[in-house]
Amino acid sequence: MTMLLLRPGAPVAPHPRATLHVDLGAVTANVRTIRSRIPGELMAVVKADGFGHGQVEVARAALAGGATRLGVTSIDEARPLRAAGLTQRVLSWLNPLGADFAAAARLDIELGVPGLDHLHAIARSAPGARVHLQLDTGMGRDGAEPARWDSLCRAAREAERRGQLRVVGIMGHLPCADRPGHAANARGRDRFAWGLRVARAAGLRPADHHLAATAATLSDPLSHHTMSRVGAGLVGIDESGTVRLRPALTLTAPLVSVRNAPAGTAVGYGHTWTARRATRLGLIPVGYADGLPRLASGRAEVWVAGTRRPVVGRISMDMTVIDLGPGSPASVGDPVTVFGPGDRGEPTAAQWAGWAETVEHEIVTGLSARLHRRSAS
Ligand SMILES: *Cc1c(COP(=O)(O)O)cnc(C)c1O
Repeated sequence: MTMLLLRPGAPVAPHPRATLHVDLGAVTANVRTIRSRIPGELMAVVKADGFGHGQVEVARAALAGGATRLGVTSIDEARPLRAAGLTQRVLSWLNPLGADFAAAARLDIELGVPGLDHLHAIARSAPGARVHLQLDTGMGRDGAEPARWDSLCRAAREAERRGQLRVVGIMGHLPCADRPGHAANARGRDRFAWGLRVARAAGLRPADHHLAATAATLSDPLSHHTMSRVGAGLVGIDESGTVRLRPALTLTAPLVSVRNAPAGTAVGYGHTWTARRATRLGLIPVGYADGLPRLASGRAEVWVAGTRRPVVGRISMDMTVIDLGPGSPASVGDPVTVFGPGDRGEPTAAQWAGWAETVEHEIVTGLSARLHRRSAS
């Protein structure tokens, strides 16, 4: 329904407030696209509130497109999935040692294990837990260092023998998969293959081995293994630039005021912009507290009255000023598209990321709860 408002040529209904429109059909379509390119299972990674798009809704849309598993960081992020009645396998891979592993086991949530301390804590407090051992395949961040891998595998096998837990997976993560030719990709794949051999030699027989996130999934078939963990790709982000995915988010806001500004009018905090000629200025009720990056001030554009117009002056906490141009027909109540899929020429979240010197992930996960949300499938 929501997307009808955005159709080219459709009559423009007044937008009463700043609204995030989530196109769940795009999520389903993105999963189908990715799914068709991999031999194994697709785990939908719905961390950070489904990359800011709504966790449970994104999970359901991904499952409709062929995802068979769900992935999150913490156990706390897994709970809403179960509370919503989702029964698919769920993996949580980032928990402090004091996390409630017993609750995870009760909720049938699989756990990532980066080292011996976690292994022992889980064996103690969550008997019967299913775990995925994590090998550092080049991130230098999470997962067991290679020097500790053999002892982790042996200890895990010993815990299996005692019936304390079951190793159902081995996982790695690649640091430079957005650059397909990067040497770290081959190194990471080789280290993962080595890790699997060590695990087998220790007597482990995990059914799952998974290395690729979105970029590797789309750009590097050698990274595929039995499953791909796809987060960004669900919502239309492919940093490797391999396939065209569909951005799932559109941010619109109404013009709350429009004024004639004579040449010389200075705008906003610090007077960073001054009108060189008479123009019309529009105000939208979204600012950095809503997640628009302040760094994009003076660079960003928005879509209004069928054309791109520049953001002028500093983006402030709650509002942003647009130079509508002299003679602009835009009037109070008209919708402004801050970003969208880009079909009509409107800016995309990827462009906002460029203006803010960051990645699209940070834009979409940084949008605040203050924004009104509407989902459509
Ligand atoms: C976030 C994350 C993913 C998903 O990565 P995308 O690039 O967003 O697909 C996969 N695996 C791990 C360990 C992650 O932290």
